[in-house]
Amino acid sequence: SRRFLSTKKQPSIGRFTGKPDPSTGKFTVSFIEGDGVGPEISKSVKDIFKAADVPVQWEKCDVTPLFINGLTTIPDPAVKSIYKNLVALKGPLATPIGKGHRSLNLTLRKTFGLFANVRPAKSIEGFKTTYDNVDLVLIRENTEGEYSGIEHVVSPGVVQSIKLITHDASERVIRYAFEYARAVGRPKVVVVHKSTIQRLADGLFVSVAQDLSKEYPDIELQTELIDNTVLNVVSNPGTYSDVVAVCPNLYGDILSDLNSGLGAGSLGLTPSANIGHQVSIFEAVHGSAPDIAGQNKANPTALLLSSVMMLNHMGLADHADAIEKAVLGTIASGPENRTGDLAGSASTSSFTEAVIKRL
Ligand code: NAD
Repeated sequence: SRRFLSTKKQPSIGRFTGKPDPSTGKFTVSFIEGDGVGPEISKSVKDIFKAADVPVQWEKCDVTPLFINGLTTIPDPAVKSIYKNLVALKGPLATPIGKGHRSLNLTLRKTFGLFANVRPAKSIEGFKTTYDNVDLVLIRENTEGEYSGIEHVVSPGVVQSIKLITHDASERVIRYAFEYARAVGRPKVVVVHKSTIQRLADGLFVSVAQDLSKEYPDIELQTELIDNTVLNVVSNPGTYSDVVAVCPNLYGDILSDLNSGLGAGSLGLTPSANIGHQVSIFEAVHGSAPDIAGQNKANPTALLLSSVMMLNHMGLADHADAIEKAVLGTIASGPENRTGDLAGSASTSSFTEAVIKRL
């Protein structure tokens, strides 16, 4: 059966162009360990990569934000590391609460032009959730829409928040969706929108997709109103198994969490990729889980599966396969090997050991 996270074939856009270090034969990957549970789940990835003999060496990056002239910026050494290595693995980052701070995650996406956010969600064999046939791939526009940060007070009690949609950003993410569908062998792209209400904004997104579909006669294009998608996904997720869904930013944010809940039954299992033309950053969908930080309770699966997506992206498909099989096999093997979020009794470290035994 088709593998969960990818195939050996990768989309022709955003391809990894890095090379291994000639002296060690290893690729260098920038590693942002993140906040909260970040260091614990990062250790799990490092231990498993080591046990699996993955030809990767890590370059630790500190992205503690700098606030200069009201702008959030990433420290220069981190930016340089990521541009040099062209690929990064990222743990969750806590967003500082307070006015005037743009989220660090948004800053990262803007800094590196990470235009497509790929979020697969799939049922895990041997781990029962509401549905056992979920296999959804959603690609979210990652740079604009409601996240463009253009907001102002018009008058007391009246605010305006601008959803920005451009032809170019729509085209690059929808083209990526077509290329992704072609690469992984899914015959249909579904554009999710609400152009009945957002006539101009979503109307532009849909019309870009219709124009582009002429270049992809092998892929069927379907357009679907987001309310219909939500109803269809919760009532019959299996109908999306041959589909790559693509949508503007906010719809993608919400819909992908729904997909994760239905598919894996937990955010602690959902990986993602942020693809740019030069650089790509792979990260768990969940946040820093401050409520369980430092307690050896966190489920490292989402970051592990993100690292599997990263290895496929880097052309290290055999290592990706071995880790993916070991992780999914461990979850399927019973509650004693699952972490608390999956109603199991394993700790982060005992889960990691169980995965290593299956490599
Ligand atoms: P969260 O995802 O951190 O936590 C939500 C719930 O899920 C918590 O109960 C938590 O314990 C649980 N959970 C999350 N990951 C888990 C894991 N790996 N294993 C077991 N349980 C897990 O969401 P939140 O509490 O809304 O956000 C906390 C912080 O994370 C905030 O500062 C937020 O801005 C940030 N955040 C960052 C990212 C990112 O870096 N991509 C994404 C979302 C939220």
